[in-house]
Amino acid sequence: MDYDIAIVGLGPAGSTLARLLSPSFKIIALDKKHQSGDAGFHKPCGGLLANDAQKSFIRQKLNLPTDILSNPQIFSVKTYDLQTNLVRNYQRTYVSFNRHKFDLWLKSLIPSSVEVHHNTLCKEVMRIIEGYQITYLDENNIEHKITTRYVVGADGANSLVRRMRYPSHSIRQYVAIQQWFSEKHPHPFYSCIFDNQSTNCYAWSISKDGSFIFGGAFPKKTANQQFENLKEKLTQQGFIFGEPHKTEKCLVIYPNRFRDFYTGNENIFLIGEAAGFISASSLEGISYALDSAEILSKILNSADPDPNKRYYFKTLPLRLKLYSKIVKAKILTTPFWRKLIMKSKFQHINME
Ligand SMILES: Cc1cc2nc3c(=O)[nH]c(=O)nc-3n(C[C@H](O)[C@H](O)[C@H](O)COP(=O)(O)OP(=O)(O)OC[C@H]3O[C@@H](n4cnc5c(N)ncnc54)[C@H](O)[C@@H]3O)c2cc1C
Repeated sequence: MDYDIAIVGLGPAGSTLARLLSPSFKIIALDKKHQSGDAGFHKPCGGLLANDAQKSFIRQKLNLPTDILSNPQIFSVKTYDLQTNLVRNYQRTYVSFNRHKFDLWLKSLIPSSVEVHHNTLCKEVMRIIEGYQITYLDENNIEHKITTRYVVGADGANSLVRRMRYPSHSIRQYVAIQQWFSEKHPHPFYSCIFDNQSTNCYAWSISKDGSFIFGGAFPKKTANQQFENLKEKLTQQGFIFGEPHKTEKCLVIYPNRFRDFYTGNENIFLIGEAAGFISASSLEGISYALDSAEILSKILNSADPDPNKRYYFKTLPLRLKLYSKIVKAKILTTPFWRKLIMKSKFQHINME
């Protein structure tokens, strides 16, 4: 084998794993993003660091550099139910940051013992005796093949590793669309929007660094149309859009069964969103990316004789927590229950 471990994808999950693995391993890491700057792949994201992700940073003794933070930091989310016209304000302790800078910063922390290939596309993961052969295209579009004992799929929502090696473990996917506008609202705010006529997931908006970002997750077939319809409805609620200066689209997984969380087998490990680890109720996924990477690093560093089995068991609490988010999402996206919760004004902060 050329390598002990190949990591495909260096988002929060892959970068964290690469940072935490023992330097005694021979590791190769492949990532579509460039090493620095604004060129190359950018992950569309709200750029909000939730409590659980902050806890992972505490455990991993990491502090967030201030040049990653965005302006302003907002402490409440305005929740709209367009079916009932109810609006509520809930306190949130998110940290708002620039997602691309965040990803590049996490990548920069990977130690030099890991061989990192930026601007590189993994094309194939093939089973061979005693391991796997990985085919990738480098930044000059030249094809390379390497062999490795372990493969880690950290390649996000549309994971090639998951699709190629586990085609029967497909997971429901939605299209996330985000548009960036110049911020014209007098008071910058976050919002979370429920409108069952547009999507059975949800939409959001965030004010950041002079931009107003509006996004939503929609079933694939009608995504564009529903996105535009929703913008029109929200204009009547006082949202100010104008001409977008950027439109982003990507797939986002929307787990709805316990078996959607799949951790891999036969020396392949899935971490982060590739494993289905994302909250169905908020689409928050960075904490689960960080946590699953941390769990796997400990198992591989301890030379466990059956690392796949151990990873499966060690991620059980995480998977149960994510299952509770599926239940929460089902409640929040059901108009009757949502109306009841919002009418109760439970945890609502009155701003008048
Ligand atoms: C619109 C939107 C908004 C979101 N907002 C938030 C939020 O505010 N807060 C939050 O916590 N979560 C949010 N999420 C979820 C969060 O972005 C993901 O859960 C998180 O990024 C998962 O991390 P990851 O490392 O598993 O995957 P990713 O971040 O997707 O990273 C995967 C990496 O793999 C690389 N890659 C993919 N395929 C290949 C390949 N074939 N070859 C080489 N490299 C490859 C890419 O470079 C990519 O960077 C949001 C998701 C969406 C879609």
